Amino acid sequence: MENNKVQKGQLIVVSGPSGAGKGTVLARAFGKYPNLRYSVSVTTRAPREKEVDGVDYYFKNIDEYMKMLHDNEFLEHQCVYGNYYGTPRKKVEEALEKGFDVVLEIDVKGALEIKSKFSEAVMIFVTPGSRATIEERLKKRSTEKEEELMVRMGSAIEELKQAEKYDYIVVNEDAEKCAEDIGAIIRAEKCSAAKNKVFLNKLIYGGN
Ligand code: 5GP
Repeated sequence: MENNKVQKGQLIVVSGPSGAGKGTVLARAFGKYPNLRYSVSVTTRAPREKEVDGVDYYFKNIDEYMKMLHDNEFLEHQCVYGNYYGTPRKKVEEALEKGFDVVLEIDVKGALEIKSKFSEAVMIFVTPGSRATIEERLKKRSTEKEEELMVRMGSAIEELKQAEKYDYIVVNEDAEKCAEDIGAIIRAEKCSAAKNKVFLNKLIYGGN
């Protein structure tokens, strides 16, 4: 790394419909690539069984959330399925400064907001291998009520329509391969000419 300075990390946005298996894929990716950090979002949604505060989400009540919003503590925030979700600004910025690659697992609207603010963000959309897989995976999630399942299926289709706006589409037929694809994308992005302009200029013109 040039000049012994820590190179800023890569901001990575991962979206995909419910039932795409993002959670499994990302868990594998974090196991394989130690430079990755997961951005834990803040939400007003109630915790599901086995979810841990500070690990899966920071669970806040609506007043606490609104105070954070008012204090400009979010990089982006959205209302998803009637609950608020926000990306904590400070934690993400600190991790990027330290050189970690930070993954935001967020919905499509939030993702597009991030891309409009940070053009260098890498946008990855994870899809299931087939439509039937989405239905199956959603049904297996016994935590959701029937009505909520219908809403999530409808949203999944709407989200798929937005996938072409992403930089990369990763098909999750095999979680291990999908995690490797994500690692390959991050490596390729670090080698992109656009992200190495400063380095190239130093080689050409010298200087620190
Ligand atoms: P769930 O309630 O199933 O954990 O998440 C519902 C949706 O909210 C998912 O699409 C998830 O990616 C999205 N989400 C989670 N955290 C955030 C966030 O901080 N910002 C945005 N915009 N979406 C989020």
